[in-house]
Amino acid sequence: LFPAGEAILEGLNPAQRAAVLHGSGPLLVIAGAGSGKTRMLVHRMAYLVAGGAAPESILLLTFTRKAAQNMLWRAAQLTGANCRQVMGGTFHATANLLLRQYGRYLDIEPNFSIIDRADAEGIINLIKSSLGQSGADKRFPSKRVILNLISGAVNKNASLEELVMTGAMHLVEFLDDFQEIAGHYAAFKRDHGLMDYDDLLVNWHRLLAECEAARAALSARFQHVLVDEYQDTNHLQAEIVRLLAGHGNVMVVGDDAQSIYSFRGADFANIMRFEKQFPGVRRVLLEQNYRSTRPILELSNDIIAHAEEHFDKALFTESEGGVLPELAVCANEAAEARFVADRVEQLVAGGLPASEIAVLFRSAFHSFKLEIELAGRSLTFEKRGGLKLTESAHTKDVLAFFRVTVNPRDELSWSRLLLQLDRVGPRTAQKIVRAITAEADPVAALGRYPGRGSWQAQLRQLVACLTSLQGEGQTPAALFDAVMGYYQPVFEKLYFDDYPKRSRDLDQLKALAAGYGDLRAFVDDTALDPPESEAAGESGHRLVLSTIHSAKGLEWTVVFVIGLAVGRFPGQYVLPPGEQWEEERRLFYVAATRAKKRLFLSFPREMFNSGQRVYAGMSSFVAELKPVLYQTVTVEQQGPARAGAGAPRTDAVPEPGPASAASSRLGPSLAPGELLPGMRVGHAFFGPGTISRLPAPGRVEVLFDRHG
Ligand code: ATP
Ligand code: MG
Repeated sequence: LFPAGEAILEGLNPAQRAAVLHGSGPLLVIAGAGSGKTRMLVHRMAYLVAGGAAPESILLLTFTRKAAQNMLWRAAQLTGANCRQVMGGTFHATANLLLRQYGRYLDIEPNFSIIDRADAEGIINLIKSSLGQSGADKRFPSKRVILNLISGAVNKNASLEELVMTGAMHLVEFLDDFQEIAGHYAAFKRDHGLMDYDDLLVNWHRLLAECEAARAALSARFQHVLVDEYQDTNHLQAEIVRLLAGHGNVMVVGDDAQSIYSFRGADFANIMRFEKQFPGVRRVLLEQNYRSTRPILELSNDIIAHAEEHFDKALFTESEGGVLPELAVCANEAAEARFVADRVEQLVAGGLPASEIAVLFRSAFHSFKLEIELAGRSLTFEKRGGLKLTESAHTKDVLAFFRVTVNPRDELSWSRLLLQLDRVGPRTAQKIVRAITAEADPVAALGRYPGRGSWQAQLRQLVACLTSLQGEGQTPAALFDAVMGYYQPVFEKLYFDDYPKRSRDLDQLKALAAGYGDLRAFVDDTALDPPESEAAGESGHRLVLSTIHSAKGLEWTVVFVIGLAVGRFPGQYVLPPGEQWEEERRLFYVAATRAKKRLFLSFPREMFNSGQRVYAGMSSFVAELKPVLYQTVTVEQQGPARAGAGAPRTDAVPEPGPASAASSRLGPSLAPGELLPGMRVGHAFFGPGTISRLPAPGRVEVLFDRHG
């Protein structure tokens, strides 16, 4: 063993060690949550570098940029060596960098622009109206539906026809239109030097599949390929890995029970296929969970035990003790918000850093009530998985200046700039854009554009601003100031009613720009992996509010999973049985397995749904859990949470959790009107059960777990 080797192997169990010490050849790790898969990859990377592999010969593919950065940083801590040269990032970001370097093999110009979802929808709308579908025909599918189909076809490796025939038969009459729009969309992107997210993967794949020289060069460059969260790759990503790792030095890790991105075309069967793609693969099993206490692990195991797909994971833990997860049955959303905020305050008062606490939910809007409650108590938080910083009109406005600077053919951004001028409407903008992008130097052409009317003066200022951006050697921060010199008055005029609020986003964008030395990299990153609008510039000492999707791979000491109500989690339109239902259950599993020491589940019994009061009841995913695995508290509209309540005073008692014998006696009674289908109740004789129906006033039908 070389000198740093022993240190790198410290803190690993024998199975992890074996994987880290693995020689050459493919290696697959399928293992449950918190079993140390990511840790193993970090140590493997450190081991390779310490053992003499050139850092730049390692490619690390992860699900977010943040994850890659964090792993590289940890590997550097282990080796003391510089792991910054390791190429690490998402599939999309890596595709972007490689296509700029190797795109010539495919006749791709290196200064293409990346468009995000909103840009893509804008283009689809343009095409729709040019085909005479400007929205008058209400039956004609929306831009969102069309784009989902086009993207779905790419990501699921299917034709538009197959997709419509198998999943959207009601749209079959529009099949020809879809095909025509898809054709125009592809042509539009090609003509304007644009790539959407899918194109990045498609073209990376083409590069490897169609150009032997490029494939050979890339395989030689990346001697080691490491992939985390492999269960959420799609078929293109799996093919990219296969083609890239012709040498067989590839290590992928994943957990099929945590696959939560199939709506984007991810296919966890990729894990099973890996063994076929790489014959002779070595398989490593990790079975010990190091993240969670035993009660949390047992509840998590029970969640996934109900899955239709059989996941043969035998996760165990050596940790002893631990507190039972708590289920808070809350009167309504306000009570749920109060419950969470109360607990957070208690925990923080007890010395736990707020950043060690996360509140997780299925959809970004599920936390709105809580955000209001937290703001009222001056508890600051960081929200993840909400609106991206670059999804708003004013940030897009500012980015348009930079985008035309790096890609003068980016017509979308040109239109944005021109539409900011007084009295320039879409038609005029389009005419000008056509004229100037046909010339070699569009900025100069704009300066010569024959103008009349009052916007001439503005046009000159715009040209002056754009010209000033072209000088060499200016930092993105300096360029940002140059843009704001022109844009600030425009901005205040365009958004006169709320520009002070919006200017916070621009401050964040500027702070972001200041972190870059190169404009191209700044522009690419804002399109590829923009920070969330409230999280940018975050120093990381605050409570985290996050969608479950954005919490993947992470862990916190204390985790709250809120909104576990019927119609909310699983989502309103998801019905059992089926793949979607199963994916929602896995989402719940991912949420619960983020917790290290304490896990709180909660749901409001009453919610407002499009202005209407609805009684919800607990999520089926909670109702199906063994009641001994958690303890229940109720939270009324006013006052503190009470343990053990949740059943009527009559002959039914709240079901006991093993660690809460004291709280299992009769709690304060609930009025019969507060009992709802889906609620868990207990009976002195029949034991635990779930309310199935309320057949008549004052009567409750219960399905008892042990007696039916
Ligand atoms: P997920 O499936 O959620 O991504 P994972 O399998 O990647 O989880 P890690 O995040 O790598 O798991 O590890 C979970 C926790 O367990 C981390 O805090 C990690 O430091 C710790 N851990 C992993 N392996 C060991 C070990 N051998 N000894 C002690 N702690 C460990
Ligand atoms: Mg992980």
